[in-house]
Amino acid sequence: MFARDASLGAARTRANRIIVMERSAEVRSWLRCYRCWSQNLELQVHYEGIHRIDADTGERGEVIDEIQEAVVQCVDCMHDQPHLRFHDGRIAPVEDSWERMIASAPWVASCTVTVDAEDVETCSGPDAGDALSHASFGEHGTREFFTHVRFHKHDEDRIVVHLLVELYARSGEEATDVLEAAARGPLTITSLAEESRPPAATGGDQH
Ligand SMILES: [Zn+2]
Repeated sequence: MFARDASLGAARTRANRIIVMERSAEVRSWLRCYRCWSQNLELQVHYEGIHRIDADTGERGEVIDEIQEAVVQCVDCMHDQPHLRFHDGRIAPVEDSWERMIASAPWVASCTVTVDAEDVETCSGPDAGDALSHASFGEHGTREFFTHVRFHKHDEDRIVVHLLVELYARSGEEATDVLEAAARGPLTITSLAEESRPPAATGGDQH
């Protein structure tokens, strides 16, 4: 929903740093998978709409209500691309995350997040991992980070979730900041280590 602003912001940021840059080169820097750098991306759009019908022509008319959900996915590694948004018919970068996610290395954190039990949809069964990840880090926990819930402990009306999280950041400080901003309850990081990047996808514009 902020794609338009994000796109303008990104252009402004780049203009400050890079005086002359061709538009195509500009786009290529972020229009790629943040994990494997593949440019083999696809967009999944789900649209639901209610439209009036023109009584004379039978044509679809004025929109009464519409919902559009769009997800960009990498065809090579199948991962979602939360640094990209679909707006007005084109893909735009998300200003506060694309530079961090494209030009960085994966970091693995061992941590706990303490959340209200009522914010956890379910803590048992096949959906428990997703529900605990979402309660701990919101959308970051289910769409961006690679989140593994090791176990959880109930403490009266709170739940302490023990997690292993992999995220992309340019430094340990940035990784810590991102985790702190995403955490939906008190966060304790017990270890944080830099990993090596997965191999880049071959092909694309590298030749
Ligand atoms: Zn990929």
